[in-house]
Amino acid sequence: MAQKSALVTGASRGIGRGIAIELARAGYRVAINYAGNAAAAAEALKLVQEAGSDGFIVQGDVAVAADRARLIAETVANFGRLDLLVNNAGVAPNVRADVLDAGEESFDRLFAINLKGPFFLTQLAAKQMLQQGQDAEGFRGRIVNITSISVYTASTNRGDYCMVKAGLAMMTKLFADRLGHDGINVYEIRPGVIATDMTGGVKEKYDKLIIQDQPGITPIKRWGKPEDIGRAVRAIAEDRFPFSTGACFDVDGGFHLHRL
Ligand code: NAP
Repeated sequence: MAQKSALVTGASRGIGRGIAIELARAGYRVAINYAGNAAAAAEALKLVQEAGSDGFIVQGDVAVAADRARLIAETVANFGRLDLLVNNAGVAPNVRADVLDAGEESFDRLFAINLKGPFFLTQLAAKQMLQQGQDAEGFRGRIVNITSISVYTASTNRGDYCMVKAGLAMMTKLFADRLGHDGINVYEIRPGVIATDMTGGVKEKYDKLIIQDQPGITPIKRWGKPEDIGRAVRAIAEDRFPFSTGACFDVDGGFHLHRL
């Protein structure tokens, strides 16, 4: 059976790296995209190789149209086809500001990287997948969007982040509806609090909320790991959910439960 291939945005560090490693364990070759940290990307590629597969690293800012086109072109040039796109790259606001004071610069940055980038990258990926023949499982491709509990959790000091993640959840439904007839399934994975560089600056706050507080914000009393998200993406990559599209998977230690 032909080896499958994936493009994972923001795969140099954190959750994206965890996804790339799990995909390698599933036999996928992985295009490891990064924005500026080439050393981290090279390390991620080494881990992909140690996990038994291969790939290549590709710099590119998902907010930039020419970079998005190059990401797809290089992936296809290297692998011949694109079986899976994972829209993982994302940023938090540089400064947390109250919704009454939050500025346009942060809004535009988050909108460009976290929503506009994934939308137009998905458009390109879908067009590539539509040109491809079906694989052995009957799919032309699969698309996974990494959103957040911020889709439905209001954080008034980072409203821009919450709004763009809510947009990304809707984007999942739009592409799932549009592409379902064409052999392309689209999924949302909604992580809870995951230990990465993004949450490094708020470690003490979440140590208290998750571990020290009783009962704490999650029934499963630990931080999430990049591997937790990687394993969920791997299940999709291995076609464990062939009759699901537009579906959202909460990978959050049970954060989403309403509890009394
Ligand atoms: P992270 O540790 O800060 O890593 C961010 C990754 O995205 C890096 O690989 C970075 O590349 C890349 N990146 C940043 N801007 C980019 C751009 N413009 N174009 C391409 N790549 C870019 O973040 P993370 O915690 O792993 O988060 C990954 C995703 O999960 C994000 O979408 C985030 O919103 C989401 N998420 C995270 C959490 C959490 O608790 N950590 C929870 C829910 C959802 P460089 O290494 O080159 O900078």
